Amino acid sequence: MTVPEWLPIRDDLRPYEPYGAPQLDVPVQLNVNENPYGPSKATADDIAESLRVVATDLNRYPDREAWALRTALASYLGHGLGPEAVWAANGSNEVMQQILQAFGGPGRTAASFTPTYSMYPEYARNTHTRWVTGRRAEDFTFDVDAALALIAAEQPDVVLLASPNNPTGESLTLDAVRAICEAAPGIVVLDEAYAEFRRPDTPTALSVLGDYPRLIVTRTMSKAFAFAGGRLGYLAADPAIVDALRIVRLPYHLSAVTQTVALAALRHADEMLARVADLRETRDETARWLHEQGFDVVDSDANFVLFGTFEDRHAVWQGILDHGVLIRETGPDGWLRVSVGTPEEMAAFRDALVATLETLPTRQAATQEKA
Ligand SMILES: *Cc1c(COP(=O)(O)O)cnc(C)c1O
Repeated sequence: MTVPEWLPIRDDLRPYEPYGAPQLDVPVQLNVNENPYGPSKATADDIAESLRVVATDLNRYPDREAWALRTALASYLGHGLGPEAVWAANGSNEVMQQILQAFGGPGRTAASFTPTYSMYPEYARNTHTRWVTGRRAEDFTFDVDAALALIAAEQPDVVLLASPNNPTGESLTLDAVRAICEAAPGIVVLDEAYAEFRRPDTPTALSVLGDYPRLIVTRTMSKAFAFAGGRLGYLAADPAIVDALRIVRLPYHLSAVTQTVALAALRHADEMLARVADLRETRDETARWLHEQGFDVVDSDANFVLFGTFEDRHAVWQGILDHGVLIRETGPDGWLRVSVGTPEEMAAFRDALVATLETLPTRQAATQEKA
């Protein structure tokens, strides 16, 4: 797709294509880190009933401040947070864009460390924020010294850090979070989209929120909470930050339908999260199996596993797809990412990968020589 010549689109947007993880209708979908376990009948019934109630009120605008929802999210997060310290929007993608609208913009700089979430540069581009990146270490762990050097040199207005990181799966230590917060001159965003999947001894940045008024922790109901279709992301931060985001948000940005459905889902939080332990176990089994097959595998605190390396990862991705399993061609060259599904879906993935590698000329041709 190219933008037609006659279309007066902003010059800086002309070279781009819309965000596009392929949405293909195949039996096994392991490409966008969704929770494979949908809500139970009881939860789905409660959601449907709440919709029936709100349906009679749809002539009215929703609560602009989404106060009831923010109260429920605050109590879900714990850590002594109240609704004034929580903000919600249509997915954490919208939360993040609002952050850059309020704290980035022309003449301002945002920074991150690659490989990381592919959407960050797009929020920066959309808000005319200058975008700079540092690198993670060779093994994809977060290189604190390199990060501090970049922050000292660039003085970014916003630092974006995913923990656990996507697509690698590694979490930041609290020491690293503290070091960044102390060095950064502006806002620090800890994107904890996968927080509920982290291994038991891994801390959340919520525990240091009180020490750093310019720290924002973002979360989402899309991943562990099994609510990707509901589009609900949120953050915890100092109430002054929340008030700044209220300036740039569109009026009534969260529909009555979204607020109602998210509240109903939160009433069933225990059930929505019931399979997270199973998914962690399946993740670790998947990583172990890939390792046994001789692949490089990154330790993951999330619901996906990055593995490689392949000389022609596209051929491997396509071969797996031809067996009815969709995974993600993303991240550093030569690597592929598989989301954690049900045990049956993971068995289909393993079979598809083995069959694909058998059809490629030789295994050696597919996997790069180790340095
Ligand atoms: C999936 C994901 C999100 C969440 O996006 P939503 O808009 O809330 O669905 C945020 N950050 C990262 C790193 C992700 O992988």
